[in-house]
Formats: sequence, C-alpha cells, structure tokens
Amino acid sequence: MNSFTHYGQFMKFTLPEPDQKDVCNLCDKEVGKDNLITGKNANICFECSDLAKQLADEKRKEMAFKQVRELGDFLESIEGGTSMYEIAEKIYDAGYRKVE
Ligand SMILES: [Zn+2]
Repeated sequence: MNSFTHYGQFMKFTLPEPDQKDVCNLCDKEVGKDNLITGKNANICFECSDLAKQLADEKRKEMAFKQVRELGDFLESIEGGTSMYEIAEKIYDAGYRKVE
C-alpha cells in the first residue's frame, strides 16, 4: 500500500522505479544485475533460467519420444523380408536424417 491517512490527511508516496538493468523480464523481480543473465533485449534471473531449462528439457524429451514413436510406427509398416538396405532407403526416403 503506497498511501495512508495521517491526522486526517491523505498521504501518498511513490517508490522509486527499479533500474531495469536489475530486473528479470520474465518474473519482474528486482534481483540485481549480478543475479541476471543479460541479453540484447531482455534479462533473465537464475531462478527463471533454471525453470526455463527444466521446461525445455521436458519439451525436448516429449519431442524425442514422439519422433521415436513415429519412426517405430513407420518401421512396423515395412513388410517382413525386406533387406536392411531397402529399409534404410525407405527410412531415408521418409525424411529421417542423421543429426550431426
Ligand atoms: Zn525471473
């Protein structure tokens, strides 16, 4: 609360605006520049950075799981008796590539 009544008189004060170089742009907390990773257009505090890493890892895991399932479904659709080279060709033709 930035206002109060003192002897019947309404008093109001304003807090100084925090320096934007000390503020996390994700959670808006003023943590100080030593606790921020500063980017060109935004700052992120360590806490938000840890959370973002955790969320990114979960997303990557979900995406990998989905792609492995899709590849599994594709491999199951290939007829038995097909040579490994033909299977490899079918995998390649389907767009799967080795990640460098
Ligand atoms: Zn933050």
